Amino acid sequence: MGGSEQAYVKEAFDTNWIAPLGPNVNGFESAIANYLGNGVHVGALSSGTAAIHLGLEILGVSPGDEVICQSFTFSGSANPIAYLGATPVFVDSEANTWNICPKMLEEAIVDRIQNHRKPKAIIAVHLYGMPYDVDGVNAVAQKYDIPVLEDSAEALGSTYKGQNCGSLAEISILSFNGNKIITTSGGGALVAKNHEHVAKAIHLSTQARDEAPHYQHSKIGYNYRMSNVLAGIGRGQMEVLDQRVASRRANHEHYLNALGGLDGIEFLLEPPNVTSNRWLSCILTPSFEVREKLRLAMQEEMIESRPLWKPMHMQPVFKDCPKYTNGTSEELFYRGLCLPSGSNLTQADLDRVVAIIKKTY
Ligand SMILES: *Cc1c(COP(=O)(O)O)cnc(C)c1O
Repeated sequence: MGGSEQAYVKEAFDTNWIAPLGPNVNGFESAIANYLGNGVHVGALSSGTAAIHLGLEILGVSPGDEVICQSFTFSGSANPIAYLGATPVFVDSEANTWNICPKMLEEAIVDRIQNHRKPKAIIAVHLYGMPYDVDGVNAVAQKYDIPVLEDSAEALGSTYKGQNCGSLAEISILSFNGNKIITTSGGGALVAKNHEHVAKAIHLSTQARDEAPHYQHSKIGYNYRMSNVLAGIGRGQMEVLDQRVASRRANHEHYLNALGGLDGIEFLLEPPNVTSNRWLSCILTPSFEVREKLRLAMQEEMIESRPLWKPMHMQPVFKDCPKYTNGTSEELFYRGLCLPSGSNLTQADLDRVVAIIKKTY
């Protein structure tokens, strides 16, 4: 925590705003909107997954539709497609960002249109904080007139050509889950330049209650609004977001300087005009066997590291979904490792990790 979170939470208690609305929710939303710029509006929600669910519904996704989704991601990106009775169509990554490949995206769209149906939306993800090729994805999306949902759950504080991730698509989402770069313990947000999208999200997130003195509903709604208590944590966290980004970037720099010279160890470098918040620091090893050797050596020392995300097209639950793959994300999954990446790691912690990797490698 940064320091002022408890004061905002105390304010919620002192003023008795213990509810899914109140001054902290409003204050958190405007802090995010100010940070992101680009004239965006923000609706604070109970999770990033909830934000994707509402975002897809607002983009018109309904039962029987298809939605294209980056395969290399966390399941929270794809599950809401299934909530809506739609089918995910998974598309593989490009090697230089690890995110959805614009060329394969176009191949997938052309094939879906010719042989099936036109996809309703595209979910692109800034995985580990590294921005996807926004211009490349947008060009394809515009050519076929399909809206993009920007999954920026891992990328608050990253930038693409000087603009903030989380403000780069028709609808963007953020997550404030406990593992993210800033957190409200659990939480998320839907972000859009179009004020109506955010108004709709807030309406749907509060059980879609119509304007009336009694409780009246013309639509199925959800209970997805953010608590005013948790939004207090979020207000405090926004004050230290830049520090968190600096810490995470320093972790990555430390690993890169110490391990970048090892033959066969690769890092994901920033393309021109792009900055990553370096939410997690990741390396690619030469093989699955080496990856496991490093992971287990660290585990011996009570240091947790993890394989990269297992692609969605390899998940048992999505095994029957259409997919357009070329082996890139599978290779990343087998050979990649997320190193300890917390904002509170000390130089001694980082040196310990580096020493174990060097010795084992
Ligand atoms: C965390 C995460 C989500 C979901 O966010 P929650 O707040 O945990 O529901 C979605 N997509 C990605 C890429 C994530 O990392």
